[in-house]
Amino acid sequence: LSSSSSPRVCIVGGGPAGFYTAQQLLKNAAVDIYERLPVPFGLVRFGVAPDHPEVKNVINTFTQTAQHERCSFHGNVNVGKDVTIDELRQAYHAVVLSYGAEGNRSMGIPGEDLPGVFSAKDFVGWYNGLPSNKELHPDLSFETAVILGQGNVALDVARILLAPVEMLKETDITQNALEALAGSKVRRVLIVGRRGPLQIACTIKELREMVNLPNTRADMLPADFEGIAEALKDLPRPRKRLTELMMKAVKEGGDDKAEKCCGFRFFRSPVEVLAGADGKRATGIRLALNKLEGSGESARAEVTGQLEDVDCGLIISSIGYKSIPIDPAVPFDPRRAIVPNEMGRVQDTAGLYCSGWVKRGPTGVIATTMNDSFDTAHVLIQDMEAGKLDLSVNKPGAQAITALLQTRGVRTVLFSQWEKINAEEEKRGKSQGKAREKLLDVDEMLKIAWS
Ligand code: FAD
Repeated sequence: LSSSSSPRVCIVGGGPAGFYTAQQLLKNAAVDIYERLPVPFGLVRFGVAPDHPEVKNVINTFTQTAQHERCSFHGNVNVGKDVTIDELRQAYHAVVLSYGAEGNRSMGIPGEDLPGVFSAKDFVGWYNGLPSNKELHPDLSFETAVILGQGNVALDVARILLAPVEMLKETDITQNALEALAGSKVRRVLIVGRRGPLQIACTIKELREMVNLPNTRADMLPADFEGIAEALKDLPRPRKRLTELMMKAVKEGGDDKAEKCCGFRFFRSPVEVLAGADGKRATGIRLALNKLEGSGESARAEVTGQLEDVDCGLIISSIGYKSIPIDPAVPFDPRRAIVPNEMGRVQDTAGLYCSGWVKRGPTGVIATTMNDSFDTAHVLIQDMEAGKLDLSVNKPGAQAITALLQTRGVRTVLFSQWEKINAEEEKRGKSQGKAREKLLDVDEMLKIAWS
């Protein structure tokens, strides 16, 4: 199959969903990936914690995909702004939306915009070098930080806040984050959830890392674990192991001499961010105490009417990412914050597909995203084979789109040009004994890419 005669498909978004969808499609089609940033890999680069380098090995597979003779990567293209979905649909036989979840859910409580309150998305973006978060400058001069939400992202943030700098200094965490963390006064991190220990959403690896943090003891409330021991025997195995590990931490507490502490606060919902006397910044958070109605995964938190104030100078809301619409021509379900689809086929729009977080919502690890992207690719291939896509007309693909972009003053970054950025980052990292020093400035990225 030569690339001129094969079907042409384009993918919007160069994260795991984009690359995994491309990988499958390449057997049957020529594939172009359009990515907003000059650099590829989405949350593998800007989400996954710096102390989880093994998770980032998927980059090797993505690189092989990008280097496939029928695949091309076009970074620095903001789809929806620089080029519309309709323009892409005209240039390709099919378009796959894999643009992830770039927004975040807000808590919807008074005070959440006060200085001292951050979304986990921004905080993670800051330590991982997302260009739009480079000026975040979180104030780490307070002893207590409160994280709202108890998923893996919350645990990543807690770990980064409390980990000894030695554990991070050889990773690809940005140098400015490393310096800020080295001077951090944060000694206590409380991770707050609406429901109880049996409903916690993190996985065992992240919990174990939290429990094993050096110089950090567990700060949990035994009262939160009432009745849990009795419930253990009926739990499915993964939930049982997770719960046992938490209970062990509650019981043992950890090293008394530890200077830092970290723990969960269950049955609590945020009500209001409290500002100091001058009203200028967050100095605490008011929590409503809850009781559970029902049991198991479907248990609901109901307020009891009791309130509790916690003093803290840093509040990080980690209650979820959220997809946003990028083009009015594409259906969007605002309630579920996804592109409405059936098995990856976008509702009411032939030739338009979706995969990854924008397809099923912002949950699940890279492996989940991989399976879901393979599913979308298979559905697309089935549609091609069933004659549902008109393959009889030749489509111009990237040639037409790059020409169009040029008339709009947009120049793309090809994969080989990203490799120049990559080499520069590795070089800068090496000189500091780190895996990589990420470039934080888009203009600087572009300068190196096009040099
Ligand atoms: P994304 O990774 O977000 O990729 C979407 C891409 O689309 C991005 O590159 C974005 O720049 C691009 N884009 C957005 N808008 C546009 C546009 N308009 N035009 C063009 N391009 C656009 N999973 C694990 O297995 N292990 C972990 O340790 C782990 N840690 C995580 C830590 C955090 C903080 C988070 C948030 C997630 C973590 N995950 C982890 C989950 C994993 O990152 C996701 O499953 C996966 O990244 C989802 O892939 P995606 O391609 O749908 O979205």
